[in-house]
Amino acid sequence: IEALATLGHRFGVTVIVDNTFASPALQHPLAFGADVVVHSTTKYVGGHSDVLGGALVINDDALYQKAQFLQFATGPVSAPLDAWLTVRGIKTLSVRMDRHCSNAQAIAEHLDGHPALEAVYYPGLPNHPGHELAKRQMSGFGGMLSIAFAGGAAAARAFAESTKLFQLAESLGGVESLVNYPAEM
Ligand SMILES: *Cc1c(COP(=O)(O)O)cnc(C)c1O
Repeated sequence: IEALATLGHRFGVTVIVDNTFASPALQHPLAFGADVVVHSTTKYVGGHSDVLGGALVINDDALYQKAQFLQFATGPVSAPLDAWLTVRGIKTLSVRMDRHCSNAQAIAEHLDGHPALEAVYYPGLPNHPGHELAKRQMSGFGGMLSIAFAGGAAAARAFAESTKLFQLAESLGGVESLVNYPAEM
């Protein structure tokens, strides 16, 4: 983030980071020079798959005024119940993220090197190319991991369709464990 913010600012652009996967509990892009942080609060921030929402985080007043005008003019405003659910979710964000991180770390370590898999991608694994960078930039490695199957597409699809605890669905950040197969979903 720091490298991209430095590069972006050299060319006078506004640097925007989608921090949804990390959540505000694990990573602070503004501290690394980003101008705007975007969150789908539908995910970890709400945390219970029961509310839709989003947030822009800005620490520059002029930029904030522009964004606020757009919000006022175009109407993407949270309903009271949605705002309430989101604020309620935030109260447990840090403890939920701790558990998401330790669960994902355990699963990644369990799967790493499995003969049916070609690769396990999780920044908490020391063999991940972004491991050292993630350690400097994040206070935890998050709850998202992906796996590539030695058996290719057919094996990936069969896996995604046969998990029992992990529901086949596209989202993240709730208390349910989900599996998805982005290539076909
Ligand atoms: C889900 C998601 C979005 C979109 O958010 P919605 O709340 O579903 O509209 C944007 N960015 C990331 C990284 C997401 O996971």
